[in-house]
Amino acid sequence: MKTGFDYIVIGSGSGGVAVARRLHDAGADVAVIEAGQSSFGVAEIEDPARWFSLQSGPWDWGHHYTPSARILNREIAIPRGKALGGSSATNAMMWYRGVPADYDRWNDTAPGWGWQDCLPAFRAAECWEGGATALRGGDGPLQITRPDPDHPLTRAMIDGGVAMGLDRIDDPNGPEAGGVGLANFNIDKAGLRHTSAQAYIAPILSSERLTVLTETLAHHLTFEGDRATGVAVHSPKREALLTARQGVILAAGALETPRLLMLSGIGPAKELAELDIALRIKAEGVGQNLQDHPLVRALNFRATAPLGAMVGNGGGTLSIWKSDDTLPQADLLAFPVQGRSAVPALWDHYDLDGDDIFSIGLGVMRSYSKGALRLAAATPTAPLEIQPNLLSDPRDLTALVKGVEFLMDMVATSGFSTYFKDYVAPQRGEDFETFVRRSCSTFFHCCGTAHMGAGEDAPVSPRLGVKGCRKLWVADASVIPEIPSCHTHAPVTMIGERAATFILEDA
Ligand SMILES: Cc1cc2nc3c(=O)[nH]c(=O)nc-3n(C[C@H](O)[C@H](O)[C@H](O)COP(=O)(O)OP(=O)(O)OC[C@H]3O[C@@H](n4cnc5c(N)ncnc54)[C@H](O)[C@@H]3O)c2cc1C
Repeated sequence: MKTGFDYIVIGSGSGGVAVARRLHDAGADVAVIEAGQSSFGVAEIEDPARWFSLQSGPWDWGHHYTPSARILNREIAIPRGKALGGSSATNAMMWYRGVPADYDRWNDTAPGWGWQDCLPAFRAAECWEGGATALRGGDGPLQITRPDPDHPLTRAMIDGGVAMGLDRIDDPNGPEAGGVGLANFNIDKAGLRHTSAQAYIAPILSSERLTVLTETLAHHLTFEGDRATGVAVHSPKREALLTARQGVILAAGALETPRLLMLSGIGPAKELAELDIALRIKAEGVGQNLQDHPLVRALNFRATAPLGAMVGNGGGTLSIWKSDDTLPQADLLAFPVQGRSAVPALWDHYDLDGDDIFSIGLGVMRSYSKGALRLAAATPTAPLEIQPNLLSDPRDLTALVKGVEFLMDMVATSGFSTYFKDYVAPQRGEDFETFVRRSCSTFFHCCGTAHMGAGEDAPVSPRLGVKGCRKLWVADASVIPEIPSCHTHAPVTMIGERAATFILEDA
């Protein structure tokens, strides 16, 4: 087996495959290490309608958020894809980049990350069905399409949003900063999920300069002095030390990258000492700054008729609006679900039976709550202690309560007149704050746990290098300094694209 490469990329998710492909195309010999199995040709992954069932079982890491009183002491699963393609192989396929202000705020602490700096990398990733524009890319690797607008729920969401005063927008990734319109999806023209691995890796699989090792778990990094030189890996077939002549890129995601840093001696001094891990670089920010969007899962309603077969991922539109008109940018996002959507606590509390239920998920996207993760043991497989502190910032709770009020009114508008029959969860007149606490879950957007920045608190530099050592970079959701007001696959893909640029420039 070949064990020496120019670059080793750990993780084949949204960030990892983008950086691997761009380094390969620049002439480098690249290895991609992936703990999960190949996702190519797997029917349950390719079928957009089955995305939700991928969250438990072999395609997921099985992590959980620790309970807190703010969410009524419930444990919440926090799925992370364990497959070639990472979470892009198991996610809900929404492609939404947020608004320029999200990135201009990054630029305040991580110079070089303003919207105008990031836009070329977003465009480079995109193969948008509408073709290239000043804002959209038309010939990148990732196929991005609109859904079929004919489903009655899609039409009701648009008409209901307009009846509530939202603008009808053509493209959430276009120039408008809010409104209601058809979503963008990583679904190809044949109607199949388009994972990042299919987009970035599949076209170069036969290259002699690409090695993809699936079912291979990275344990820790190796160093010579302050230079990262490789990674120790385990697979069912072998244990091996892989070496990287030019450097190592961590792209194991917002939960596993901080773990690998800590297992390699890079992290908070006290925590590493408690686990008997020798300290290599004191980096108190590793594991801190954990952010996620709180998601109300979900408001459930009874429809006038059964909903029929699932179309696409079961969603189809995005509604983006302000919980308070005085806010500088939209903070709420809602999407429909063709069927019920409920955390277990809602099942216990409401009558959710029947094939005539539709639901609306509601996220607060300009969210402020922050948490942290810790290693419970010094191994690459032990459960992590992950506390996101959802709803700890009162602004997040206030926004969600207002969002619930908005959506309860929206289904009663003329837009939903042929579709909406009755309220199920919540009921009219209920205490919506308790409903939010009971239904609050994850939007699956955990990030920020090895954040980039110029300040001393940031373990990663704005050029994505791990501070205190050479030839080690991070290119995944961990580096996000402040959660953007969108889903995270698009921003992380953009980060992967830009990571390759920085690495090649700094070589
Ligand atoms: C169920 C779900 C639904 C979501 N829906 C959406 C959506 O609709 N739109 C959107 O924009 N975002 C969505 N997201 C979020 C988005 O997919 C992620 O934020 C994004 O994919 C993260 O990219 P990443 O590169 O940081 O990590 P990942 O894509 O998770 O990749 C990390 C990779 O590293 C591998 N890995 C980890 N540790 C090791 C190790 N020790 N050794 C070897 N390999 C390792 C993992 O198996 C994985 O393949 C969703 C996520 C989930 C899980």
